[in-house]
Amino acid sequence: MAKPLIKEYGSPGRKGYSLPEVDVPEKDPEEALPEGTIRQEKPDLPEASEVDVVRHYTSLSNMNYGVDSGIYPLGSCTMKYNPKINEDVARMPNLANIHPYQPEEQVQGSLELLYELKEYLAEISGMDEVSLQPASGAHGEYVGLMIIRKYFEKKGEERSKVIVPDSAHGTNPASATMAGLDVVEIESNERGMVDIESLKEAVDDDVAALMLTNPNTLGIFEKDICQIQQIIHDAGGLLYYDGANMNAVLGYARPGDMEFDVIHYNLHKTFSTPHGGGGPGSGPVAVKSKLAPFLPAPVLKKEEEKYCWDFDRPDSLGKIHAFYGNYGVMLRAYSYIRTAGAEGLKEITENAVLNANYMKEKLKDTYELPFASDSLHEFVLSGSRQKKEGISTVNIAKRLLDYEQYAPTIYFPLIVKEALMVEPTETENLASLDRFIETMKKIAREIEETPEVVENAPHNTVVRKLDEAQAARNPDLRW
Ligand SMILES: *Cc1c(COP(=O)(O)O)cnc(C)c1O
Repeated sequence: MAKPLIKEYGSPGRKGYSLPEVDVPEKDPEEALPEGTIRQEKPDLPEASEVDVVRHYTSLSNMNYGVDSGIYPLGSCTMKYNPKINEDVARMPNLANIHPYQPEEQVQGSLELLYELKEYLAEISGMDEVSLQPASGAHGEYVGLMIIRKYFEKKGEERSKVIVPDSAHGTNPASATMAGLDVVEIESNERGMVDIESLKEAVDDDVAALMLTNPNTLGIFEKDICQIQQIIHDAGGLLYYDGANMNAVLGYARPGDMEFDVIHYNLHKTFSTPHGGGGPGSGPVAVKSKLAPFLPAPVLKKEEEKYCWDFDRPDSLGKIHAFYGNYGVMLRAYSYIRTAGAEGLKEITENAVLNANYMKEKLKDTYELPFASDSLHEFVLSGSRQKKEGISTVNIAKRLLDYEQYAPTIYFPLIVKEALMVEPTETENLASLDRFIETMKKIAREIEETPEVVENAPHNTVVRKLDEAQAARNPDLRW
């Protein structure tokens, strides 16, 4: 159903407040203000009462779907439920109302908190030094690669090649290109892992880095990581870890121990900031000590029990964010890590892995499972069997919306045809996992019995199937 715009509400003169008559003389604006400053037409603003406005926006908000409404199994994106306590912490007035221009001695508490967050992130990843400045995963990648560039510049080595597996997240090759490096793609093998022979072929003394995520975008842990790191390090290159999906390994495995040299986190995925609407995010970069001099300035340090920003960093790649990064996201992450504790972080991983494997086992006979290797926090199915019946994966995704559940990531990673990439996350309980599994099986049955219902889905949503390119370029906000 079409909803009116707020401007179409109400009637002339209606307002959201009522106040007593003014008890001071009123002035004619024409006399009170200089000539030519009075506008000729009334501004085109809605004239609506408070209850009109509240109902309008409440009704619009009900059209949204989010993790507060139900499961959001978007693979790679980690759309998990975030405990509300972290929102409360981020809004505490003494944390939320400070300003980055305040002198350091007035905000020692806040700096201590950021310093501890850095220490936690270093410990969790097995790295030595951390910058909290980057504002997203992709931004962290870019910063990490610029650090690698600076490192080789300083050593006087010219290296321009970044090796990226074909299963990588799209931001990996994009960030490498943005950082002025050349991307070389290598193939995955039939187990969905880096193909060692292709890697060896791609490696030479021009290699600056290998970008890898482990578990990779198929949810599969790269078991050959020791050999992989050896090949890269022997050639003088560095290892970059895409840590967007740390809920697969928290407390169990550390990129630093796998000999990675740089990692970025996605605090907004793993450590409790709601995301998906475009921000703000936080993509801290953690490095081994040999790369610490190149981190963005300033770096937070502790000297004689005082916390301060260190701007005196001659080899730094410079500043990459206004002030010190997205502080609110860091507060949520701090609160999340403290409330979970070391054991809690391990449980996050256990539940993420258990949930994904439960779902995979229950769905692998209904939908094709292209890679049989063990997977961790997510898994990739293929809708190829359903495609043979004439129904594309996008239709399956749309049909899920009819059943009031969000769709998995589709058509990614690119190496799987008709991919359905599912990440239930650690926050879903058994009932919610079963509901999703049943719905996926029901859709598969519908494809056999009443394919047109799936083909023309969604039927029950506020909008039907959109022309997505048109919707992005020419949005009709009336609907
Ligand atoms: C989400 C994601 C990114 C990018 O993170 P943004 O914060 O969206 O820029 C990079 N790599 C992987 C594996 C991801 O899942």
